[in-house]
Amino acid sequence: MKKEQLEQIRHTLAHALASAVLKLYPNTKHAIGPVIDNGFYYDFDFEIPVTEDDLKAIEIEMKKTLKTWKGVTGKEVSDSEARAFFADNPYKLELIDGIAKKGDKITFYTSGDYTDLCAGNHIDNPSAIPCDSFKLDKIAGAYWRGDEKNKMLTRIYGLAFESKDELDLFIKNREEAAKRDHRKLGKELSIFAYDDEVGAGLPLWLPNGGAMIEALEKLAKDMEFRGGYKRVKTPHLAKDNLYLTSGHLPYYEDSMYPPMEYEGGKYYLKAMNCPHHHKIYAAEKKSYKDLPLRLAEYGTCYRHEKSGELFGLMRVRSMQMNDAHIYCTEEQFFNEFKAVIELYLKYFKIFGIDKYMMRLSKHSKEKLGQKYINEPELWIKTEDMVRKCLVDLNVPFFEAEDEAAFYGPKIDVQVWSVIGKEFTLATNQVDFAVPARFGLTYMDKDGKEKTPLCIHRAPLSTHERLIGFLIEHYGGNFPLWLSPVQIKVIPIGEAHVEVAQKFAMSLINKGIRADIDSNNDSFGKKVRSAKTERVPYFAIIGDKDIEAGTITLESRDAGKIGSLKESEIIDKLIKENEEYK
Ligand SMILES: [Zn+2]
Ligand SMILES: [Zn+2]
Repeated sequence: MKKEQLEQIRHTLAHALASAVLKLYPNTKHAIGPVIDNGFYYDFDFEIPVTEDDLKAIEIEMKKTLKTWKGVTGKEVSDSEARAFFADNPYKLELIDGIAKKGDKITFYTSGDYTDLCAGNHIDNPSAIPCDSFKLDKIAGAYWRGDEKNKMLTRIYGLAFESKDELDLFIKNREEAAKRDHRKLGKELSIFAYDDEVGAGLPLWLPNGGAMIEALEKLAKDMEFRGGYKRVKTPHLAKDNLYLTSGHLPYYEDSMYPPMEYEGGKYYLKAMNCPHHHKIYAAEKKSYKDLPLRLAEYGTCYRHEKSGELFGLMRVRSMQMNDAHIYCTEEQFFNEFKAVIELYLKYFKIFGIDKYMMRLSKHSKEKLGQKYINEPELWIKTEDMVRKCLVDLNVPFFEAEDEAAFYGPKIDVQVWSVIGKEFTLATNQVDFAVPARFGLTYMDKDGKEKTPLCIHRAPLSTHERLIGFLIEHYGGNFPLWLSPVQIKVIPIGEAHVEVAQKFAMSLINKGIRADIDSNNDSFGKKVRSAKTERVPYFAIIGDKDIEAGTITLESRDAGKIGSLKESEIIDKLIKENEEYK
């Protein structure tokens, strides 16, 4: 089914909802009922507001009504006719005012005995909509026209899909998503916490979160090392002059923490790592032999997100970014950009991300010199090269006109978790403006000073956003390499604690994140607690094991593995860890 057709169904269902409500609650005034993602809603002004308990009856009435609707007919009406029809509905009258002011036609659409003020786009035969493909979902308060000065109306939400199967799948995924909510699991698995005295949006990483961060940085550093990146370190703050040069001030000032003033200067917490990296480039003279220069840093940035917009780990005020800036010549650009995209693909494979989409945001020719830096040829050339990279690597992407950054084309990356939840991970940008702003140059073969291009890239996003995503993607069942605790050693009784401790120490000495459960709890309880902690492996040690000189290994995902020698377990875990399993 085309998206357009599904929208027509959802729109028609909004009419059916209003019709049902007006039948069951005749003194209700209906306001507006648009189509939204996953369904539709309608806002009502009830005499006595309904509750979610009433939704079932409304839904039954809706289905009854719908069966009788064989078509939807539209007609243009005059302003006075429209006002007369909706004389006792202030909301519709206000909408009519709006249409009249714009000089648009006023149209009514009718099905059965229900008529609404509406611009059209319905399904031809509403009675053909399968009754089990939609359902009323929930109720919420909503101010008329979204303005809190206006009256609070009652919004009834409905879900609607092409078929019952799709509706059921959506509901199932939504329930699963709630179970996987990173805020809930992050707490249960002791990954991160917030504290009022530290401040909103400033996450504290507990030891389990710290272990995950270390594992991710190890992965990134390993990949970047092989990719020829050089690691740098920069301070968390800088003088205002730096941000005036970069252009963050004054345009980006609202998103930055207010400055600290001392020694006659103004110091800002950094909102981005780029300006610092540009200064590292500028610190020493460059020749063509130094390029491409790839500077990488897990840099911590601070942004002043509004408190109402903070959300778990997804929107925070301090973030550790998997940042790097690649300075290269135009000739080198294609290969450099391709290597960045290839890096993404490697990460997607490691994380089991099967569904992703890249958006190539381009300039608009008409806005060169205003919204976009005036380099017509460079725009076309780099956009072509970026497109060719994506095509060559067979990456799913679409193009968006007039969506680029001021200083060059960019690629936004969307990924979907295993249960189909969409996340925005990262943005890569090509930057033509660096040279002009920072005076970065290199001496070329021909003895001429030239300006490099700069690629901004952050494939692993920020630790905050990525770990938020990974918690939901894996539902807390992290693969071995990422698990805060990789193996739990469980002595069956007190007599086995000493051997267990020795084994745990051998694991730790080999770099494996092992933990021992030496509580006096029953064996069953110890196993249960290892399972709630989602530890990928547990090693059980009892009399038989000690006699045989083996350890019983169990896996969270595969169940009992068997009796193995100490060295076999260590080798197995080291191998899986190295293979990012
Ligand atoms: Zn309509
Ligand atoms: Zn940057």
